[in-house]
Order: sequence, then structure tokens, then C-alpha cells
Amino acid sequence: MAEGPLVHHYVNQLKKILQGRGVRIEFRPHKLKDDETSFQSTHIQKVEAHGKQFRIHFSDHRILLIHLMMWGSWRIYPKGESWDKPIQRARVIFHTDSHTAVVFSAPVVKLLTPLELQDDPKWGNLGPDPLRSDFSSKEFFRRLEQFPLREIGEALLDQQVIAGAGNILRIEILFRPHIHPRRKVDSLSKKEKTELLRWIFKLFEKWMKQIGRQNNWIQIYRRSGKSCPNCNHSIEFFRQAGRITYACPNCQL
Ligand SMILES: [Zn+2]
Repeated sequence: MAEGPLVHHYVNQLKKILQGRGVRIEFRPHKLKDDETSFQSTHIQKVEAHGKQFRIHFSDHRILLIHLMMWGSWRIYPKGESWDKPIQRARVIFHTDSHTAVVFSAPVVKLLTPLELQDDPKWGNLGPDPLRSDFSSKEFFRRLEQFPLREIGEALLDQQVIAGAGNILRIEILFRPHIHPRRKVDSLSKKEKTELLRWIFKLFEKWMKQIGRQNNWIQIYRRSGKSCPNCNHSIEFFRQAGRITYACPNCQL
């Protein structure tokens, strides 16, 4: 599943072939809008990630928003190379002189003006993203503390609090400073919040660095019944915000 680090990883690859380039774009299985003809040839100004969203900025200032959710993926093929996925699953195809970039099975593809994106209740107003240079700790805590009675494990899944954290990251981020996911936001001490932020940066970066290699930073995700690496107690699981959550009931307080 594409949490923030994987999205940033894809964006780093896509930037090399799309940013600042003229492209032809095909929307499949159908065009986005009936009158959409402008992408026979367009210019991409910027490709960026914000949390789990891909944002592709065109020279006419519109933004193509793509979200992979649980199923989507990207491939970049040198021109003429055969694909390893069926074209029926292609959702958007970007053709450049040298490459073809394809997003497969992405459930969310939207073409929006900056204002439409900003005002969109679901896709706009994202929280700060720890992998972006514009991350603001102050803004993160402001958004976190807006709902003081919410459980911290639930708050970290809210993309309008922190963009890019998914189920794996929020479980591991809470495990490191020994904070139980059921704790209410307003019960966290200043020291715990500082530690939380430290581990947010650390684990986002760790995942980013380990893409394509063996993950050795995951300590409790999907390890229910196994021994806690801190205290040897058995890891438990429960449902929170509709997601399976893992925690150590002994050392996460
Ligand atoms: Zn433990």
C-alpha cells in the first residue's frame, strides 16, 4: 500500500521524465471530460507529492490529482519496451519522447484548478507532510490539538492532520515512544509530543531510504501474538478507525 514514502519515491522517478517536458496524455478507459482535448500535447511544470497524493501541475495551472488508494501503481517504461501489466488496467498514460509513464488501477484521477483543489473537502486542506520541505511542526500540532479527545492512533490516520501516514507508519510511530494508540490527544505530555514528532521524521525517512531493500524497521505491524521487541510481552491487535491496529499492552501506555 502506498503510504507517503512510496509516493515520494515514485514522484522522484516521475520528475526525471515528466517535469518541464512536453507530454501527450491518454486517459483510460475514457477521457476525463467529453471536451478534454488539450492533452494531445501539454507541458508539465511540476510533479509533486503531498502525503499520498500525486499532484501533476500543467502549464495552464490545472492540477491532475492521482491517488493510488490500496490498488494503484506506477510504471515507467523506456519507449518501445513491452509492459509487464495489461493495458486494460491503465488509467492514465503519459507519453514523452523517450518514455511512457503509466498509472495502473488508480481509483482517483481528478483534474482541478488550484482553487477547486484547495476547497475540496476530501482532497484539499492536507496536513503537513514530513517528507516535504514546507513541513511545519507548529501546524502539525495545531491540527492535532483541534480534536483533543480523539485517540492518537486515529488522529495520525487523518490526512488533514498529517499527510502521508498510513496504517503501517502510525502503528510503528506510536510504538517507538511507547504511546498506546488508544491514548487521547490531550493526555500526551509535552515530552511525549516531542518524541512523537521525532519518530515521525525518523520513520518516514527510514522507509524512504529502504524502498527496494528489505524492510527492517517494521517492529510490530502484523506481529500479533509475537514478542514485543522491548519487553517480550505478546503484541495485541484491535480495530481502530476501521483499521487493524497493533500495540504492546505492556510497554505502550
Ligand atoms: Zn512491550
